[in-house]
Amino acid sequence: MTQRHHTKLLIIGSGPAGYAAAIYAARANLQPILVQGLQPGGQLTITTDVENYPGFADVIQGPWLMAQMEKQAAHVGTRLVSDMIVSVDLSRRPFICIGDTGDVYIADAVAICTGAQARWLGIPSEERFRGFGVSACATCDGFFFRGREVVVIGGGNTAVEEALYLTNHATRVTLIHRRDQLRAEKILQARLFANPKIRVIWDGVVEEIVGDKEPPRVTGVRIVNVRTGESAIVPADGVFVAIGHTPVTGIFAGQLALDAEGYIITRPESTATDVPGVYAAGDVKDKVFSPGGHRRRHGVHGGARGREIPRRRGSGGSTQSGGIAPATSSTGHPAQRAAKDNDAWIGTSSGCFTPSPRPAASPMPARRSI
Ligand SMILES: Cc1cc2nc3c(=O)[nH]c(=O)nc-3n(C[C@H](O)[C@H](O)[C@H](O)COP(=O)(O)OP(=O)(O)OC[C@H]3O[C@@H](n4cnc5c(N)ncnc54)[C@H](O)[C@@H]3O)c2cc1C
Repeated sequence: MTQRHHTKLLIIGSGPAGYAAAIYAARANLQPILVQGLQPGGQLTITTDVENYPGFADVIQGPWLMAQMEKQAAHVGTRLVSDMIVSVDLSRRPFICIGDTGDVYIADAVAICTGAQARWLGIPSEERFRGFGVSACATCDGFFFRGREVVVIGGGNTAVEEALYLTNHATRVTLIHRRDQLRAEKILQARLFANPKIRVIWDGVVEEIVGDKEPPRVTGVRIVNVRTGESAIVPADGVFVAIGHTPVTGIFAGQLALDAEGYIITRPESTATDVPGVYAAGDVKDKVFSPGGHRRRHGVHGGARGREIPRRRGSGGSTQSGGIAPATSSTGHPAQRAAKDNDAWIGTSSGCFTPSPRPAASPMPARRSI
């Protein structure tokens, strides 16, 4: 039988943001109800090692951390409910939220903590190695790849930022992009092309992540050139999928202000949305510190801002890796400059760039390691 629940504060979502909100609200005697959704514990339950949570000298496991947060929230008086909110009416107070169970939640205030889901490639091998070398978050996992080689998949701001960040740890970063030019902002592209640790493979689609079964370990990716159809293995110890995030805001669309990408807009330095009494916290509102979009959010990520990518070459100049000019160079697209030094589109020690537009013949070596 369906029920009606009255609460001063309804928290939607059981990730770190939801539990943090619950702990504070319960301790403020607001007797919150927290609806957990389909993924109790949120995204950290699908990862293994977490090393950036303050207070733990040793690496801890994501599912364990979230179980602790759940217990803490319950311990201080939060009512945890296994349900998923399927519709909301934020047009008047009290707010009405309907659960998948049919239960009705009547709330004086609502905290939206529904997160943002990383977009994945959707290939079976990605699932197999997720948490064992495959990641969607360089800030979270880059540290595990110090002194190793990694690939980053994508061509937008996220991918370029992830690649630049990873040069702090990895010996070499290979950005694999399915097109022959990046979508990232020009300033980011200039930094990318100027970084001697980074090479770019153009027109490459990752078909498989390859590695060992026991213990699970990534050894590379098999890519296919979308123009020639040829395939090759790119060796790597880690794979960072950086093709964007999707904020989980579908049920709120049209009821509060969202930005162009669907993230909830809050007042500066605040969790308040444009609807009085409705708040948003965590990845659902924070692109800057969200794992991929641009970086992560809640309190545990305070340190991440410290990794702001240093501005590299301001203008002109070539690098050891292949003479890359900034996008504003009068000599054309950086990839064109690079191509003078690197004819092949894949795998030279000095970089991996094809001109844009690409040359007629730039074959990808069939099934060879680079
Ligand atoms: C593989 C992986 C590894 C990561 N590793 C790290 C790391 O090492 N360190 C780190 O700091 N960060 C890491 N992150 C990022 C981190 O997990 C997220 O930044 C964090 O979980 C965001 O917290 P959140 O509470 O905003 O949202 P989420 O954790 O995404 O939680 C969202 C919650 O909302 C619920 N929900 C959604 N819709 C509804 C609905 N309609 N009704 C009810 N509930 C709903 C879901 O069930 C879920 O519980 C990693 C992320 C991934 C994917």
